Amino acid sequence: MKPQLQNEKERLCLSCMKCCREVIVYTHPVLYSCPAEMLVEFYQARGFSVTRLKEDAIILSFKHDCQHLTPAGCDIYDQRPEACRDYSGIEDFGDECLWSQLKKK
Ligand code: SF4
Ligand code: SF4
Repeated sequence: MKPQLQNEKERLCLSCMKCCREVIVYTHPVLYSCPAEMLVEFYQARGFSVTRLKEDAIILSFKHDCQHLTPAGCDIYDQRPEACRDYSGIEDFGDECLWSQLKKK
Protein backbone atom coordinates (compact mmCIF):
# COMPACT_ATOMS: atom_id res chain seq x y z
CA MET A 1 0.00 0.00 0.00
CA LYS A 2 1.34 3.47 -0.87
CA PRO A 3 2.47 5.46 2.21
CA GLN A 4 -0.11 8.20 1.62
CA LEU A 5 -2.91 5.63 1.43
CA GLN A 6 -1.55 3.84 4.49
CA ASN A 7 -1.61 7.12 6.42
CA GLU A 8 -5.18 7.78 5.38
CA LYS A 9 -6.21 4.26 6.39
CA GLU A 10 -4.61 4.77 9.80
CA ARG A 11 -6.46 8.04 10.27
CA LEU A 12 -9.79 6.40 9.46
CA CYS A 13 -9.09 3.28 11.50
CA LEU A 14 -8.17 5.33 14.58
CA SER A 15 -11.56 7.02 14.47
CA CYS A 16 -13.33 3.69 13.92
CA MET A 17 -11.69 0.73 15.72
CA LYS A 18 -14.73 -1.40 14.88
CA CYS A 19 -12.68 -4.48 14.07
CA CYS A 20 -10.94 -4.15 17.45
CA ARG A 21 -14.34 -4.63 19.10
CA GLU A 22 -16.14 -7.09 16.90
CA VAL A 23 -15.08 -10.41 15.40
CA ILE A 24 -16.46 -12.00 12.26
CA VAL A 25 -15.97 -15.73 11.69
CA TYR A 26 -16.90 -17.73 8.63
CA THR A 27 -17.75 -21.37 9.14
CA HIS A 28 -19.62 -24.23 7.54
CA PRO A 29 -21.65 -27.16 8.95
CA VAL A 30 -19.56 -29.60 6.93
CA LEU A 31 -16.73 -28.93 9.41
CA TYR A 32 -18.90 -30.30 12.22
CA SER A 33 -20.81 -33.00 10.35
CA CYS A 34 -24.11 -31.58 11.52
CA PRO A 35 -27.07 -29.87 9.86
CA ALA A 36 -26.79 -26.12 9.28
CA GLU A 37 -29.94 -25.55 11.39
CA MET A 38 -28.23 -27.09 14.40
CA LEU A 39 -25.16 -24.92 14.01
CA VAL A 40 -27.26 -21.78 13.66
CA GLU A 41 -29.26 -22.68 16.76
CA PHE A 42 -26.08 -23.49 18.70
CA TYR A 43 -24.52 -20.11 18.07
CA GLN A 44 -27.70 -18.07 18.37
CA ALA A 45 -28.32 -19.62 21.79
CA ARG A 46 -24.91 -18.26 22.81
CA GLY A 47 -25.72 -14.75 21.71
CA PHE A 48 -23.90 -14.68 18.38
CA SER A 49 -25.40 -12.86 15.46
CA VAL A 50 -25.70 -15.52 12.73
CA THR A 51 -26.11 -15.04 9.00
CA ARG A 52 -26.66 -18.03 6.77
CA LEU A 53 -25.34 -17.73 3.25
CA LYS A 54 -25.72 -19.77 0.09
CA GLU A 55 -24.51 -23.36 0.29
CA ASP A 56 -25.08 -23.20 4.08
CA ALA A 57 -21.93 -21.18 4.77
CA ILE A 58 -22.44 -19.29 8.02
CA ILE A 59 -21.14 -15.95 9.26
CA LEU A 60 -20.84 -15.47 13.00
CA SER A 61 -20.36 -12.08 14.50
CA PHE A 62 -19.78 -11.29 18.12
CA LYS A 63 -18.60 -8.42 20.26
CA HIS A 64 -15.11 -8.96 21.58
CA ASP A 65 -12.85 -6.20 22.78
CA CYS A 66 -9.23 -6.92 21.90
CA GLN A 67 -7.01 -7.28 24.97
CA HIS A 68 -5.03 -4.26 23.74
CA LEU A 69 -8.01 -1.98 23.36
CA THR A 70 -8.17 0.72 26.03
CA PRO A 71 -10.44 3.77 26.36
CA ALA A 72 -7.58 5.70 24.74
CA GLY A 73 -7.30 3.23 21.84
CA CYS A 74 -4.84 0.47 21.06
CA ASP A 75 -2.10 0.31 23.70
CA ILE A 76 0.40 -1.21 21.26
CA TYR A 77 -0.63 0.79 18.22
CA ASP A 78 2.88 1.49 16.95
CA GLN A 79 3.80 -2.19 17.36
CA ARG A 80 0.43 -3.67 16.45
CA PRO A 81 0.48 -6.94 14.50
CA GLU A 82 0.79 -6.76 10.76
CA ALA A 83 -2.60 -8.45 10.57
CA CYS A 84 -4.13 -5.40 12.26
CA ARG A 85 -2.15 -3.00 10.10
CA ASP A 86 -3.23 -4.63 6.85
CA TYR A 87 -6.71 -5.83 7.75
CA SER A 88 -9.53 -4.39 5.71
CA GLY A 89 -12.94 -4.62 7.35
CA ILE A 90 -14.77 -3.91 4.11
CA GLU A 91 -15.65 -7.54 3.34
CA ASP A 92 -16.73 -8.13 6.93
CA PHE A 93 -18.39 -4.82 7.81
CA GLY A 94 -19.27 -3.22 4.48
CA ASP A 95 -20.06 0.49 4.74
CA GLU A 96 -19.59 0.38 8.51
CA CYS A 97 -15.86 0.06 7.86
CA LEU A 98 -14.81 3.69 7.40
CA TRP A 99 -11.97 2.57 5.18
CA SER A 100 -14.59 1.55 2.62
CA GLN A 101 -15.42 5.22 2.02
CA LEU A 102 -11.90 5.90 0.85
CA LYS A 103 -11.69 2.77 -1.26
CA LYS A 104 -14.83 3.84 -3.14
CA LYS A 105 -13.29 7.14 -4.24
S1 SF4 B 1 -13.52 -1.60 10.45
FE1 SF4 B 1 -12.32 -0.73 8.76
S2 SF4 B 1 -12.01 1.45 9.22
FE2 SF4 B 1 -12.70 0.41 11.07
S3 SF4 B 1 -10.83 -0.04 12.16
FE3 SF4 B 1 -11.37 -1.86 10.97
S4 SF4 B 1 -10.31 -1.66 8.98
FE4 SF4 B 1 -10.27 0.33 10.02
S1 SF4 C 1 -3.87 -5.08 18.66
FE1 SF4 C 1 -4.62 -2.99 18.57
S2 SF4 C 1 -5.15 -2.64 16.43
FE2 SF4 C 1 -5.01 -4.87 16.74
S3 SF4 C 1 -7.11 -5.54 17.24
FE3 SF4 C 1 -6.05 -5.10 19.15
S4 SF4 C 1 -6.56 -2.98 19.67
FE4 SF4 C 1 -7.01 -3.31 17.49
